[in-house]
Amino acid sequence: MTPVNDDIEALKNRISSGETTARAVVESSVDAAEKLNEPLNAFLQIDRNGAMTRAEEIDKSLWSQNGDGTSVPALAGIPVAIKDNICVRGMQTSCGSRILGDYHPPYNATVIDRLLAAGAVLVGKTNCDEFAMGSSNENSAFGPVKNPWDTSRVPGGSSGGSAAAVAAGIVPIALGSDTGGSVRQPAALCGVVGLKPTYGRNSRYGLVAFASSLDQVGIFGRNTKDVARVLGIVSGRDTHDATTAAVPVPNYTAGLTNDANDLKGARIGFPRSLFGDGLDTEVRASVEAVVDVYRDLGAEVVDVELPNAKYSIAVYYIIATAEASSNLARFDGARYGYRAKDAPELRQMYRKTREEGFGAEVKRRIMLGTYVLSAGYYEAYYGKAQQVRSLLKEDFSKAFESCDAIITPTSPTPAFLIGEKSDDPLAMYLNDIYTVTANLAGIPGISVPCGLSSNRLPIGFQLLGAYWSEPTLFKLAHAYEMARPFTERPPICVDN
Ligand code: GLN
Repeated sequence: MTPVNDDIEALKNRISSGETTARAVVESSVDAAEKLNEPLNAFLQIDRNGAMTRAEEIDKSLWSQNGDGTSVPALAGIPVAIKDNICVRGMQTSCGSRILGDYHPPYNATVIDRLLAAGAVLVGKTNCDEFAMGSSNENSAFGPVKNPWDTSRVPGGSSGGSAAAVAAGIVPIALGSDTGGSVRQPAALCGVVGLKPTYGRNSRYGLVAFASSLDQVGIFGRNTKDVARVLGIVSGRDTHDATTAAVPVPNYTAGLTNDANDLKGARIGFPRSLFGDGLDTEVRASVEAVVDVYRDLGAEVVDVELPNAKYSIAVYYIIATAEASSNLARFDGARYGYRAKDAPELRQMYRKTREEGFGAEVKRRIMLGTYVLSAGYYEAYYGKAQQVRSLLKEDFSKAFESCDAIITPTSPTPAFLIGEKSDDPLAMYLNDIYTVTANLAGIPGISVPCGLSSNRLPIGFQLLGAYWSEPTLFKLAHAYEMARPFTERPPICVDN
């Protein structure tokens, strides 16, 4: 019995009706995590004991609850994997870094408390690029994650372990973080659904900060409905994070039925200029075919312009590095994780700790970020980037006057080879061309699988919406899934 083919509601119902048990489901998930970690390296910690104990508790409480008719929590017994930059009490939170290699936070992130309150069972912490900086997972201090579709290729990043764990059927749901695409891009490269919610939709409390004006916890799932269900659970105002908004959390799964979908009246924005240079021809053809599907479902396709999108990589890598240089100043050996030995005095201890504790990409970003914030350059780089960010937001506001969602590829290419871009930071950064805009503007984005390339690598398309338009994105993504179900499974999978 594996969770791979069930959606989470069906799985929960099978557990609560007694057809199976949380124990059996969680055990198969933990077994798969352990077995497939050999080829994939998706998990940095697998918590067999904690997960099994909790599954047994859930079985017990379901047994007593069912008797008195109490409703069963939405995720009762559902195994979930958590990116290793989200704090879970009693587990490690390394952020894929040597500097936090041994860090065990004394508290849960708010999203974790909410998952647990809904009955989820945490099976482990997933591998990621160091401090979520990367697009390939090659920047983890604990080795790269392999793509379950082809282990010579990257799973995308930075939440590659979470994406690989869902794609391989180890868990039906995983959390990641998305600062510039780190949920959507690995989702596309691994053939699963990935959501970055509106900035302020869910709490960042307990998510280790990379770039605070861009960071958001995102969700991976095998289908849109599962992702929508989990968003409803983890979202909403949190007094620990002042950037969470007091916007009511709707029932995100309402209306996601299996009936034929009529999208009459829906308007899909097509930004033609983003379908040009640098886009792989198979990815382009595949996403254009999605546009045709939407047309067939009754949607109207309208041309939209995002004139400032061409600056988004430059703007992102100024703002993200500036914020990172400040956020990462706290890792100095004094309070958290690793501390260099044999440093004769305090300043040398700081220096040695950071030199030995951080990897090359993190150091590059700290230096870039410090530079763009330094006296004399601040206005020219950081100030200018903030201005262009405002223009980009205006581009989106304008575009959403004529459409409900904008369609783009999620990634310009399918999964590339491990090592192919690791010596060329610019080539690596260009992967993020379609995803960083949503973080800069604060809007939600979802990536949905739309087929395989000729060498059997997944391709994903992205839908971007206005603030708080997750219900629209879910409706459109779900309609596509119903019309063109993606049923392929990777060679490295619990089924095989
Ligand atoms: N790939 C982007 C970067 O390297 C995005 C990372 C993220 O979303 N955490 O910064």
